[in-house]
Amino acid sequence: MYRINENYLNLQGSYLFSTIGRKVSAFQTANPDVPVIRLGIGDVTQPLPPSVITALHKAVDEMASAETFRGYAPDLGYEFLRSAIADNDYKARGCDISADEIFVSDGAKCDSGNIQEIFSDDCRIAVCDPVYPVYVDSNVMAGRTGLFDPAAGNYSRVIYLPCTADNDFVAELPSEVPDIIYLCFPNNPTGAAITRERLQTWVDYANKNGSLIIYDAAYEAYIADETLPHSIYECDGAETCAIELRSFSKNAGFTGLRLGFTVVPKALTCGDVSLNSLWARRHGTKYNGAPYIVQRAGEACYSEAGKAEIRELVGYYMENARLIREGLTAMGYTAYGGVNAPYIWLKTPDDMKSWDFFDYLLEKAHVVGTPGSGFGAHGEGYFRLTAFGTHENTRAALDRIRTL
Ligand SMILES: *Cc1c(COP(=O)(O)O)cnc(C)c1O
Repeated sequence: MYRINENYLNLQGSYLFSTIGRKVSAFQTANPDVPVIRLGIGDVTQPLPPSVITALHKAVDEMASAETFRGYAPDLGYEFLRSAIADNDYKARGCDISADEIFVSDGAKCDSGNIQEIFSDDCRIAVCDPVYPVYVDSNVMAGRTGLFDPAAGNYSRVIYLPCTADNDFVAELPSEVPDIIYLCFPNNPTGAAITRERLQTWVDYANKNGSLIIYDAAYEAYIADETLPHSIYECDGAETCAIELRSFSKNAGFTGLRLGFTVVPKALTCGDVSLNSLWARRHGTKYNGAPYIVQRAGEACYSEAGKAEIRELVGYYMENARLIREGLTAMGYTAYGGVNAPYIWLKTPDDMKSWDFFDYLLEKAHVVGTPGSGFGAHGEGYFRLTAFGTHENTRAALDRIRTL
């Protein structure tokens, strides 16, 4: 008789956003005439940049004639896209990353979930707390986390790195040495950014202790402070200890189009095994590439016009971030983030529990956010609002919160 992968039974509850969805639809059913404003899920609302649309149309037309039709893409992605990435995202920032160290994919969520496959089952992982849930859950599925302890709200074999107001929501080096460390900056959910100096201490730590860093830079386009690193490869020695994940979702609005990439430097080896070769093998075996038309759309993001349009798009959301952060602060709330990231991490008033504040905001202001506790034990007492709404909805949400 077949058996299931019992690690799945070790996953906790339903996915955070399904619980939110259920609560919101229950509220809507009970109050059909009340318009709800959603500043919860991290999905974008603005259309794709014009350069991307033009590139998509052109690529679709190419698929219509035998001379220009494309079938399977090369395993790592098309050279035109990988070169544009290497030149613009890395060489232009002084990082020595070449096209053959870049693996094009259909997004950073899949990559962050899949990358753990090339590591041993007994590796100990470390995650920030609060954390993007995919890093933990994908390791639960692989059986790497140990059992869940409901009292502590933690998995027994995971090393949690508390991110609190006291450390500016940037994790401190752990006392127990992890094998694999997940870092995400600018951070989802806290909106915190990391300085080059602090990131360098993580790189030095990883190199010294033989740990690997998985660096999720999905929000690098939101960095406003010019002194902050956009890539972990801006730190010395990162090419021997770090894999970087990137996405076209939050900068260029590809959440529905799907495109991302993973950087695995050739210098990254475990003993004498190249991680670049392992990931190439995994990619070639289990994945057949992002669509040609989408890779052309990705290339268009690196044209001069595309870059300007993306700056404008990011600017649109960052104006919301500013409105939310300044609006809430003026109302007497304590709000973090929202300067180098599209997330505002709000301290709930009067030490309200995160889910209580969620219910309160939904029922009294008809505004949906995300309870901080859904991202980890140290998220309790916090609440995430996103800047991905429209200006109109963002202003309206703030007006409603002001009347509470
Ligand atoms: C949105 C997001 C991603 C990007 O996911 P895609 O699959 O590329 O859409 C990656 N990491 C974090 C932390 C995110 O919030």
